[in-house]
Amino acid sequence: MPAAVAAARAGKKVRLFELQGCLGGVWTAGLLSYIFDIDKSEIGWEIIRRLDAYGARRKDRPPTPSTRLDRNWTYEPEYMKLVCEDLCAEAGVKVHLQTPVVAAYRDASGRNIETIVTESKSGRRAWRAKTFVDCSGDGDLAAFAGCGFDIGWNAKGWGQPATLNALVVVDDGDAIAEYASNEPAMWMTCPDPEQPGKTRSHHIVASHRLRALLRQAGVEPSYGDPTLFRMHRNLFCFMANHEYELRVDDADAISAATMRARKEVATLAAALAKLGGPWKGFRVAATAEQIGHRDARRIHGRYTVTREDVAAGATFPDALTLSRFGIDIHGLDKKANDERAAGQNFGARFRPFEIPLRACQAKDADNLYMAGRNISGDFIAHASYRVTGSSVALGEGVGKAIGKLG
Ligand SMILES: Cc1cc2nc3c(=O)[nH]c(=O)nc-3n(C[C@H](O)[C@H](O)[C@H](O)COP(=O)(O)OP(=O)(O)OC[C@H]3O[C@@H](n4cnc5c(N)ncnc54)[C@H](O)[C@@H]3O)c2cc1C
Repeated sequence: MPAAVAAARAGKKVRLFELQGCLGGVWTAGLLSYIFDIDKSEIGWEIIRRLDAYGARRKDRPPTPSTRLDRNWTYEPEYMKLVCEDLCAEAGVKVHLQTPVVAAYRDASGRNIETIVTESKSGRRAWRAKTFVDCSGDGDLAAFAGCGFDIGWNAKGWGQPATLNALVVVDDGDAIAEYASNEPAMWMTCPDPEQPGKTRSHHIVASHRLRALLRQAGVEPSYGDPTLFRMHRNLFCFMANHEYELRVDDADAISAATMRARKEVATLAAALAKLGGPWKGFRVAATAEQIGHRDARRIHGRYTVTREDVAAGATFPDALTLSRFGIDIHGLDKKANDERAAGQNFGARFRPFEIPLRACQAKDADNLYMAGRNISGDFIAHASYRVTGSSVALGEGVGKAIGKLG
């Protein structure tokens, strides 16, 4: 969406093709609910203001050094859909919902994409354009066009675990607030009951409190940091499962993982509800339309952001943004998850690093750009820039760059 809006604002005629029935991706169809690292681009700030106008944003309280800059916060996905649609409508972007891109064809030179094919209720249609941007998260368009890519962390292409988020309700939200990672503030440090004398982020303390309760209720979540984010009085996001050993381009495996995850979410919720007391009325209101992929096809670009760039805090003359969110690798299998569920870094060092426009320009097609988690980087760099604030800033930067093309 940010790439489309920025290019349209720069005077380009833009069409946006979206697989789901709403814009926003993991934010909306994936029911994400928490934002990292967003207060760094014009459109990022517009999203903040527009969510506030809908009363749909919830800042961590009290402000911590990072939240003071409006960097990290919770939102209600339903209103994020409206914000994305408003931004596109006002910029004049022609939006096609439930219209996935399914194929791409090149021109006679072989260097440019000439035509893409979509499928929708109107049937199969072909579209031509001078410039294309792949913001599919999974890098579908680039892959369909035959561009090279890397995928996952091993030879099988398995990615970071995927998660099916859910909206859950409970009779009294205040009664379970101590289990919510954003009540009072996600990154606030507090005493760690599991390690007397030590402190940890409130998020980890709250999620481990929830994990202990789930175990007491007789169930073991596949994600070792099962998380509740409070969105509104009695409404929470429930992020409690991990699906391992999944490729983002394996539709059959994704289908099976989605149904397995839905069953797990229902089982965990039922176990909590059975405890009664503060958990009275705890119920799944909706699971996400799409299982959330943390990983991506990482499309080969004219520059590849690497682990070394991340360690050095690299800067570039054509930088589009600064990635300030640390390396966050979730346990790659159940055993690794049990040792440490999230925030692993494979021994890599982190300093905020810039991402150049060249990492968003496909190496194998001259008129193709990428933005979001499918840009050109290695597995470690991706584990930092994959979060939503950087995706917005990269999209905006790419859209502006396209706006300058003849
Ligand atoms: C479970 C989970 C928890 C996360 N937690 C956080 C967090 O707390 N904070 C944070 O900031 N980030 C978090 N992330 C990371 C973040 O959500 C994503 O990496 C981010 O959304 C990437 O944005 P994107 O636009 O590149 O991809 P996506 O959000 O996946 O958007 C891609 C869009 O392209 C569409 N699409 C896909 N294929 C096609 C096609 N063939 N044709 C047309 N449209 C297509 C999709 O429907 C979607 O709308 C989390 C991710 C997951 C999965």
